[in-house]
Amino acid sequence: MNDIGPMQVVRAGNLREVLAALDKAGTGILLLTQPDGAFERTVTDGDLRRLLLETGSLEATLERLPKIQSVVLPEGFTRRQALDLMNQHAINHVPVLDAAGRAVAVVERREIDEQILLSTPHMGDTERDFVEEAFRTNWIAPLGPNVDAFERELADLVGIGHAAALSSGTAAIHLALRLLGVGPGDRVFCSTLTFAASANPIVYQGAEPVFIDSDDISWNMSPAALEAGLVAGQREGKLPKAVIVVNLYGQSADMDPLMALCRQYGVALVEDAAESLGARYKGRASGTFGALGIYSFNGNKIITTSGGGMLVSDDQAMIERARFLATQARDPAPHYQHSEIGFNYRMSNILAGVGRGQLRVLQQRVEARRAVFLKYRAALADIDALQWMPEPQWSYATHWLSACTITPRSGMDSAELIRRLAGELIEARPLWKPMHLQPVFAQCAYFRHGAESVSDRLFAQGLCLPSGSNMSEAQVDRIVDTIRKVVRG
Ligand SMILES: *Cc1c(COP(=O)(O)O)cnc(C)c1O
Repeated sequence: MNDIGPMQVVRAGNLREVLAALDKAGTGILLLTQPDGAFERTVTDGDLRRLLLETGSLEATLERLPKIQSVVLPEGFTRRQALDLMNQHAINHVPVLDAAGRAVAVVERREIDEQILLSTPHMGDTERDFVEEAFRTNWIAPLGPNVDAFERELADLVGIGHAAALSSGTAAIHLALRLLGVGPGDRVFCSTLTFAASANPIVYQGAEPVFIDSDDISWNMSPAALEAGLVAGQREGKLPKAVIVVNLYGQSADMDPLMALCRQYGVALVEDAAESLGARYKGRASGTFGALGIYSFNGNKIITTSGGGMLVSDDQAMIERARFLATQARDPAPHYQHSEIGFNYRMSNILAGVGRGQLRVLQQRVEARRAVFLKYRAALADIDALQWMPEPQWSYATHWLSACTITPRSGMDSAELIRRLAGELIEARPLWKPMHLQPVFAQCAYFRHGAESVSDRLFAQGLCLPSGSNMSEAQVDRIVDTIRKVVRG
């Protein structure tokens, strides 16, 4: 904020002095100050121009300036308040007054109007080249050389045999369930702490979702809760057709025990790695553990094609069948012939070009997001009320979103912290609301981790902080400072 000394003028000052002060202040406003130091009103160059026209003399004093009530802010104002006030009055500067009515600062719009968003797209240097190539060669179709190359390049990067580029991660989950033969009357288990897109495709297939709690170690699917669900399913003679394991906020679930349970009960595992591209579990790429894995390239994910997804597997026949189903299930005949119901789920060659460019910077994006998380954690380490999403020994998490919980004892809860951050134009969000708490899934069965539902607690106490790979150091510092002001150690 500005040094306000040069901006302060008194009624006894004449136009010559006051215009010189305005010129020197360079802010476009002056602060008319009473002899006792109290702020009276702001003075703009328009006020001075009118006074000059009226009096015709540079020697005229400010005595003739009308008394008006100026727009002011109290100390401790929020950016939101300041910005709303500026917008409401179409002004760019507002004086800040202390309790005694003295001006202590002038806030300027450009100092306070920067919004920090949760996660925004971050393009590299080559996306445009791949897209231009598609234009130049007129490959504007769903399918084309970028699609083929994107599939190959992603499969190689994560170390899996085959990949099908699709219109969204949701489409990839839907096709995964379809490929596994999930249909009406079947049950599918799914992590409860996730985005609705993990579970909706279960319903598209006419099957029944059953939700599984998280554990405290990774915040992902609890092996104990999965086992409880499988034991109950077996007792009823109705095991699930598939288990969808979600890797939350860029961290793998504890795959070994989850896979062991699925093997033991003969249930297929689908890995929803929409949020965990670039993460590893015991050194192996997240998304490559199940019978099928899916990634998302939605706009807020770690890399993006603006919208898109990928289905991956080591089973070539499954991926070929996914491509067939995703292009309207056209039989190999000279005419249009269909023996099955298909979908229009393929990725366009243009968007695949964006994806190829993004893949080239994936590791940089992962490192940048990890650095943001580590900075939050280090800079706020002394605030006991905050607990950061744990990263177990076996995990290399991308921290797609930096997530933490706040203990209720601290006198602050996550909703209040989110509100206070919003006041400073910082976008934070609650953790995903568990699926078993969603009105649309209220009838579905749910298996807890133990006596307590871990996901309920995480939802009640947790939040995600801005995590973009394109955030500046100064932005992270601003968030840290704001949290520090709001949450006491
Ligand atoms: C984003 C997301 C999806 C859906 O991906 P889209 O590409 O947006 O359809 C599925 N599951 C999880 C966990 C996600 O975060």
